[in-house]
Amino acid sequence: MRVLITGGAGFLGSHLCDRFLAEGHQVIAMDNLITGNTANIEHLAGNKNFLFIDHDVTNYIYIEGQLDAVLHFASPASPIDYLELPIQTMKVGALGTHKALGLAKAKGARLLLASTSEVYGDPLVHPQTEDYWGNVNPIGPRGVYDEAKRFAEALTMAYHRYHGVDTRIVRIFNTYGPRMRQEDGRVVPNFIAQALRGEPLTVYGDGTRTRSFCYCKDLVDGIYRLLLSDEVEPVNIGNPSEMTILDFAKKIIELTDSNSDIAFIQPTDMRIKDDPKVRQPDISKAKRILNWEPRISLDAGLQETIDYFKTVVKR
Ligand code: UDP
Repeated sequence: MRVLITGGAGFLGSHLCDRFLAEGHQVIAMDNLITGNTANIEHLAGNKNFLFIDHDVTNYIYIEGQLDAVLHFASPASPIDYLELPIQTMKVGALGTHKALGLAKAKGARLLLASTSEVYGDPLVHPQTEDYWGNVNPIGPRGVYDEAKRFAEALTMAYHRYHGVDTRIVRIFNTYGPRMRQEDGRVVPNFIAQALRGEPLTVYGDGTRTRSFCYCKDLVDGIYRLLLSDEVEPVNIGNPSEMTILDFAKKIIELTDSNSDIAFIQPTDMRIKDDPKVRQPDISKAKRILNWEPRISLDAGLQETIDYFKTVVKR
Protein backbone atom coordinates (compact mmCIF):
# COMPACT_ATOMS: atom_id res chain seq x y z
CA MET A 1 0.00 0.00 0.00
CA ARG A 2 0.94 3.64 -0.39
CA VAL A 3 -0.40 5.46 2.67
CA LEU A 4 -0.64 9.08 3.77
CA ILE A 5 -0.41 9.70 7.50
CA THR A 6 -1.45 13.19 8.52
CA GLY A 7 0.21 14.20 11.78
CA GLY A 8 2.98 11.80 10.75
CA ALA A 9 5.63 13.63 12.79
CA GLY A 10 3.55 13.47 15.97
CA PHE A 11 3.62 10.95 18.79
CA LEU A 12 1.17 8.39 17.35
CA GLY A 13 1.70 9.39 13.72
CA SER A 14 5.41 8.61 13.89
CA HIS A 15 4.80 5.21 15.50
CA LEU A 16 2.30 4.49 12.72
CA CYS A 17 4.94 5.45 10.12
CA ASP A 18 7.30 2.90 11.73
CA ARG A 19 4.68 0.15 11.69
CA PHE A 20 3.59 0.69 8.07
CA LEU A 21 7.20 0.81 6.87
CA ALA A 22 7.99 -2.36 8.84
CA GLU A 23 5.07 -4.06 7.07
CA GLY A 24 6.62 -3.14 3.70
CA HIS A 25 4.32 -0.24 2.74
CA GLN A 26 5.21 3.17 1.33
CA VAL A 27 4.53 6.03 3.74
CA ILE A 28 4.00 9.74 3.20
CA ALA A 29 3.99 11.64 6.49
CA MET A 30 2.37 15.08 6.45
CA ASP A 31 2.66 17.52 9.33
CA ASN A 32 2.78 21.28 9.87
CA LEU A 33 4.90 20.72 13.00
CA ILE A 34 2.81 22.85 15.37
CA THR A 35 2.79 19.98 17.84
CA GLY A 36 4.67 17.40 15.75
CA ASN A 37 8.47 17.26 15.69
CA THR A 38 10.84 16.11 12.93
CA ALA A 39 12.98 14.47 15.66
CA ASN A 40 10.25 11.78 15.80
CA ILE A 41 10.90 10.78 12.18
CA GLU A 42 14.56 11.68 11.69
CA HIS A 43 15.51 7.98 11.86
CA LEU A 44 13.43 7.50 8.68
CA ALA A 45 15.36 10.05 6.61
CA GLY A 46 16.92 8.29 3.63
CA ASN A 47 14.40 5.42 3.69
CA LYS A 48 13.32 5.11 0.05
CA ASN A 49 9.78 4.14 1.12
CA PHE A 50 9.34 7.26 3.25
CA LEU A 51 8.53 10.85 2.33
CA PHE A 52 7.86 13.80 4.63
CA ILE A 53 5.77 16.77 3.49
CA ASP A 54 5.52 19.92 5.62
CA HIS A 55 1.91 20.97 5.06
CA ASP A 56 -1.10 22.19 7.04
CA VAL A 57 -3.91 19.74 6.23
CA THR A 58 -6.59 22.36 6.78
CA ASN A 59 -5.54 23.58 3.32
CA TYR A 60 -6.02 21.66 0.08
CA ILE A 61 -3.89 18.50 0.08
CA TYR A 62 -2.09 17.64 -3.14
CA ILE A 63 -0.49 14.20 -3.48
CA GLU A 64 0.90 12.94 -6.74
CA GLY A 65 0.17 9.35 -7.77
CA GLN A 66 -1.81 6.52 -6.30
CA LEU A 67 -2.89 6.35 -2.63
CA ASP A 68 -4.42 3.31 -0.97
CA ALA A 69 -5.07 4.68 2.49
CA VAL A 70 -5.23 7.98 4.36
CA LEU A 71 -4.81 7.93 8.14
CA HIS A 72 -5.95 11.25 9.55
CA PHE A 73 -3.99 11.72 12.77
CA ALA A 74 -3.16 15.43 12.63
CA SER A 75 -4.45 17.29 15.70
CA PRO A 76 -3.31 18.91 18.90
CA ALA A 77 -4.15 16.17 21.39
CA SER A 78 -3.58 17.30 24.96
CA PRO A 79 -5.79 19.50 27.13
CA ILE A 80 -3.01 22.14 27.32
CA ASP A 81 -2.73 22.12 23.53
CA TYR A 82 -6.44 22.66 23.06
CA LEU A 83 -6.23 25.65 25.38
CA GLU A 84 -3.31 27.17 23.52
CA LEU A 85 -4.44 26.21 20.01
CA PRO A 86 -8.24 26.18 20.19
CA ILE A 87 -8.89 27.42 16.64
CA GLN A 88 -6.27 25.13 15.05
CA THR A 89 -7.77 22.22 17.00
CA MET A 90 -11.21 22.92 15.56
CA LYS A 91 -9.84 23.58 12.08
CA VAL A 92 -7.85 20.37 11.82
CA GLY A 93 -10.75 18.28 13.15
CA ALA A 94 -13.26 19.94 10.82
CA LEU A 95 -11.50 21.40 7.75
CA GLY A 96 -8.59 18.95 7.94
CA THR A 97 -10.95 15.97 8.05
CA HIS A 98 -12.84 17.45 5.09
CA LYS A 99 -9.62 17.75 3.06
CA ALA A 100 -8.48 14.25 4.05
CA LEU A 101 -11.87 12.78 3.05
CA GLY A 102 -11.85 14.72 -0.23
CA LEU A 103 -8.41 13.33 -1.01
CA ALA A 104 -9.48 9.77 -0.14
CA LYS A 105 -12.53 10.15 -2.39
CA ALA A 106 -10.46 11.49 -5.30
CA LYS A 107 -7.88 8.70 -4.99
CA GLY A 108 -10.30 5.87 -4.21
CA ALA A 109 -8.38 5.37 -0.96
CA ARG A 110 -9.61 4.04 2.38
CA LEU A 111 -9.72 6.69 5.12
CA LEU A 112 -9.11 5.96 8.78
CA LEU A 113 -10.09 8.74 11.18
CA ALA A 114 -8.33 9.11 14.53
CA SER A 115 -11.19 9.85 16.88
CA THR A 116 -11.06 9.84 20.64
CA SER A 117 -12.56 8.74 23.93
CA GLU A 118 -13.27 12.48 24.38
CA VAL A 119 -16.38 11.99 22.21
CA TYR A 120 -17.82 10.36 25.37
CA GLY A 121 -17.07 13.55 27.37
CA ASP A 122 -17.44 13.16 31.15
CA PRO A 123 -19.09 9.77 30.73
CA LEU A 124 -22.28 8.66 32.43
CA VAL A 125 -21.79 5.11 31.12
CA HIS A 126 -18.82 3.19 32.48
CA PRO A 127 -16.87 1.50 30.93
CA GLN A 128 -17.56 3.26 27.65
CA THR A 129 -19.06 1.20 24.84
CA GLU A 130 -19.17 2.42 21.25
CA ASP A 131 -22.96 2.80 21.35
CA TYR A 132 -22.78 5.45 24.10
CA TRP A 133 -23.45 8.94 22.70
CA GLY A 134 -21.49 10.84 25.31
CA ASN A 135 -21.79 13.74 27.72
CA VAL A 136 -19.89 16.66 26.22
CA ASN A 137 -19.96 20.34 27.17
CA PRO A 138 -19.77 22.03 23.76
CA ILE A 139 -18.68 25.41 25.15
CA GLY A 140 -16.17 24.19 27.75
CA PRO A 141 -12.39 24.28 27.24
CA ARG A 142 -12.35 20.70 25.92
CA GLY A 143 -15.26 21.44 23.58
CA VAL A 144 -12.89 22.54 20.81
CA TYR A 145 -11.36 19.06 20.67
CA ASP A 146 -14.40 16.98 21.58
CA GLU A 147 -16.78 18.70 19.19
CA ALA A 148 -14.25 18.82 16.34
CA LYS A 149 -13.78 15.05 16.68
CA ARG A 150 -17.54 14.49 16.92
CA PHE A 151 -17.97 16.60 13.76
CA ALA A 152 -15.13 14.61 12.14
CA GLU A 153 -16.93 11.33 12.89
CA ALA A 154 -20.19 12.72 11.46
CA LEU A 155 -18.42 13.98 8.32
CA THR A 156 -16.65 10.65 7.88
CA MET A 157 -19.96 8.76 8.03
CA ALA A 158 -21.49 11.29 5.61
CA TYR A 159 -18.68 10.68 3.08
CA HIS A 160 -19.14 6.98 3.57
CA ARG A 161 -22.92 7.03 3.13
CA TYR A 162 -23.21 9.71 0.45
CA HIS A 163 -20.00 9.24 -1.59
CA GLY A 164 -19.30 5.60 -0.80
CA VAL A 165 -15.83 6.36 0.61
CA ASP A 166 -14.42 3.34 2.43
CA THR A 167 -13.92 4.62 5.98
CA ARG A 168 -12.82 3.46 9.44
CA ILE A 169 -13.08 5.29 12.78
CA VAL A 170 -10.90 4.50 15.78
CA ARG A 171 -11.75 5.96 19.19
CA ILE A 172 -8.41 6.22 20.92
CA PHE A 173 -8.20 6.14 24.72
CA ASN A 174 -5.25 7.45 26.77
CA THR A 175 -2.05 6.26 25.16
CA TYR A 176 1.56 6.72 26.24
CA GLY A 177 5.05 5.90 25.09
CA PRO A 178 8.29 7.29 23.73
CA ARG A 179 8.00 10.53 21.67
CA MET A 180 5.24 12.05 23.76
CA ARG A 181 5.99 15.75 24.05
CA GLN A 182 7.60 16.55 27.34
CA GLU A 183 5.75 19.86 27.64
CA ASP A 184 2.35 18.77 26.37
CA GLY A 185 0.88 18.86 29.89
CA ARG A 186 -0.53 15.35 29.92
CA VAL A 187 -0.19 13.24 32.98
CA VAL A 188 2.38 10.76 31.63
CA PRO A 189 5.05 13.26 30.49
CA ASN A 190 4.34 15.53 33.47
CA PHE A 191 4.77 12.81 36.08
CA ILE A 192 7.80 11.15 34.46
CA ALA A 193 9.63 14.46 33.97
CA GLN A 194 8.80 15.55 37.53
CA ALA A 195 9.96 12.21 38.97
CA LEU A 196 13.23 12.29 36.99
CA ARG A 197 13.93 15.83 38.22
CA GLY A 198 13.04 14.97 41.83
CA GLU A 199 10.20 17.52 41.77
CA PRO A 200 6.79 16.86 43.36
CA LEU A 201 4.31 15.05 41.10
CA THR A 202 1.36 17.38 40.50
CA VAL A 203 -1.81 15.38 41.15
CA TYR A 204 -4.81 17.54 40.22
CA GLY A 205 -7.65 17.43 42.74
CA ASP A 206 -7.59 14.53 45.20
CA GLY A 207 -6.18 11.98 42.74
CA THR A 208 -9.38 9.90 42.57
CA ARG A 209 -9.98 10.52 38.87
CA THR A 210 -9.28 7.44 36.81
CA ARG A 211 -7.68 6.71 33.46
CA SER A 212 -6.69 3.54 31.62
CA PHE A 213 -3.32 3.71 29.85
CA CYS A 214 -2.43 1.90 26.63
CA TYR A 215 1.11 1.49 25.34
CA CYS A 216 1.59 3.06 21.88
CA LYS A 217 2.71 -0.16 20.16
CA ASP A 218 -0.43 -1.99 21.30
CA LEU A 219 -2.54 0.91 20.07
CA VAL A 220 -0.82 0.99 16.68
CA ASP A 221 -1.42 -2.73 16.30
CA GLY A 222 -5.15 -2.24 16.92
CA ILE A 223 -5.26 0.57 14.38
CA TYR A 224 -3.40 -1.50 11.80
CA ARG A 225 -5.91 -4.33 12.24
CA LEU A 226 -8.85 -1.93 12.05
CA LEU A 227 -7.61 -0.45 8.78
CA LEU A 228 -7.45 -3.93 7.25
CA SER A 229 -10.85 -4.94 8.65
CA ASP A 230 -14.33 -4.33 7.19
CA GLU A 231 -15.69 -2.41 10.19
CA VAL A 232 -17.08 1.01 9.22
CA GLU A 233 -18.54 2.02 12.59
CA PRO A 234 -16.32 3.33 15.42
CA VAL A 235 -14.12 0.94 17.40
CA ASN A 236 -12.61 1.68 20.82
CA ILE A 237 -8.90 0.94 21.07
CA GLY A 238 -7.30 1.31 24.49
CA ASN A 239 -6.26 -0.61 27.55
CA PRO A 240 -9.08 -1.42 29.99
CA SER A 241 -6.83 -1.60 33.06
CA GLU A 242 -8.12 1.44 34.93
CA MET A 243 -6.39 3.15 37.85
CA THR A 244 -6.62 6.32 39.88
CA ILE A 245 -4.25 9.15 39.09
CA LEU A 246 -2.88 8.92 42.65
CA ASP A 247 -1.97 5.25 42.13
CA PHE A 248 -0.48 6.17 38.79
CA ALA A 249 1.72 8.81 40.47
CA LYS A 250 2.93 6.22 43.01
CA LYS A 251 3.71 3.80 40.17
CA ILE A 252 5.83 6.40 38.37
CA ILE A 253 7.75 7.21 41.57
CA GLU A 254 8.44 3.51 42.09
CA LEU A 255 9.53 2.78 38.51
CA THR A 256 11.82 5.82 38.30
CA ASP A 257 13.25 5.07 41.75
CA SER A 258 12.59 8.71 42.53
CA ASN A 259 12.42 10.43 45.92
CA SER A 260 9.80 12.90 44.66
CA ASP A 261 6.77 13.72 46.81
CA ILE A 262 3.20 14.00 45.62
CA ALA A 263 1.65 17.48 45.57
CA PHE A 264 -2.12 17.69 45.46
CA ILE A 265 -2.96 20.84 43.59
CA GLN A 266 -6.18 22.39 42.46
CA PRO A 267 -5.48 24.25 39.23
CA THR A 268 -7.75 27.26 39.16
CA ASP A 269 -7.47 27.44 35.38
CA MET A 270 -9.19 25.49 32.65
CA ARG A 271 -6.85 22.47 32.99
CA ILE A 272 -9.24 20.75 35.34
CA LYS A 273 -12.57 22.10 34.11
CA ASP A 274 -14.76 19.35 32.63
CA ASP A 275 -11.92 16.85 33.29
CA PRO A 276 -13.67 13.46 32.94
CA LYS A 277 -13.95 11.78 36.35
CA VAL A 278 -13.53 8.25 35.04
CA ARG A 279 -12.45 6.62 31.80
CA GLN A 280 -12.15 3.02 30.73
CA PRO A 281 -12.68 1.53 27.27
CA ASP A 282 -14.96 -1.41 26.75
CA ILE A 283 -12.91 -3.28 24.13
CA SER A 284 -15.28 -6.21 23.54
CA LYS A 285 -15.85 -5.05 19.97
CA ALA A 286 -12.12 -4.83 19.14
CA LYS A 287 -11.58 -8.27 20.68
CA ARG A 288 -14.45 -9.73 18.70
CA ILE A 289 -13.90 -8.25 15.27
CA LEU A 290 -10.15 -7.49 15.25
CA ASN A 291 -8.98 -10.27 17.53
CA TRP A 292 -7.07 -7.50 19.31
CA GLU A 293 -6.30 -6.77 22.90
CA PRO A 294 -3.35 -5.02 24.55
CA ARG A 295 -0.37 -7.24 25.32
CA ILE A 296 2.22 -4.92 26.87
CA SER A 297 2.00 -4.55 30.65
CA LEU A 298 1.90 -1.10 32.23
CA ASP A 299 5.26 -1.71 33.92
CA ALA A 300 6.97 -2.77 30.69
CA GLY A 301 5.47 0.10 28.67
CA LEU A 302 6.30 2.67 31.32
CA GLN A 303 9.88 1.39 31.54
CA GLU A 304 10.37 2.04 27.80
CA THR A 305 8.75 5.45 28.20
CA ILE A 306 10.93 6.36 31.19
CA ASP A 307 14.05 5.27 29.25
CA TYR A 308 13.01 7.64 26.46
CA PHE A 309 12.32 10.55 28.81
CA LYS A 310 15.74 10.04 30.42
CA THR A 311 17.23 11.01 27.05
CA VAL A 312 15.17 14.22 26.68
CA VAL A 313 14.49 15.56 30.19
CA LYS A 314 17.01 18.13 31.37
CA ARG A 315 17.86 17.48 35.00
N1 UDP B 1 -3.43 15.15 35.71
C1 UDP B 1 -2.82 15.32 36.93
N2 UDP B 1 -1.61 15.95 36.98
C2 UDP B 1 -0.96 16.41 35.86
C3 UDP B 1 -1.59 16.22 34.61
C4 UDP B 1 -2.82 15.60 34.58
O1 UDP B 1 -3.36 14.92 37.98
O2 UDP B 1 0.15 16.97 36.00
C5 UDP B 1 -4.73 14.43 35.66
C6 UDP B 1 -5.82 15.15 34.88
O3 UDP B 1 -6.54 16.03 35.73
C7 UDP B 1 -6.68 13.97 34.41
C8 UDP B 1 -5.66 12.84 34.21
O4 UDP B 1 -4.50 13.22 34.95
O5 UDP B 1 -7.60 13.59 35.41
C9 UDP B 1 -5.27 12.61 32.76
O6 UDP B 1 -4.94 13.85 32.20
P1 UDP B 1 -4.28 14.01 30.76
O7 UDP B 1 -4.02 15.47 30.58
O8 UDP B 1 -3.13 13.09 30.63
O9 UDP B 1 -5.33 13.51 29.68
P2 UDP B 1 -6.94 13.43 29.58
O10 UDP B 1 -7.21 12.01 29.85
O11 UDP B 1 -7.58 14.30 30.62
O12 UDP B 1 -7.23 13.87 28.22
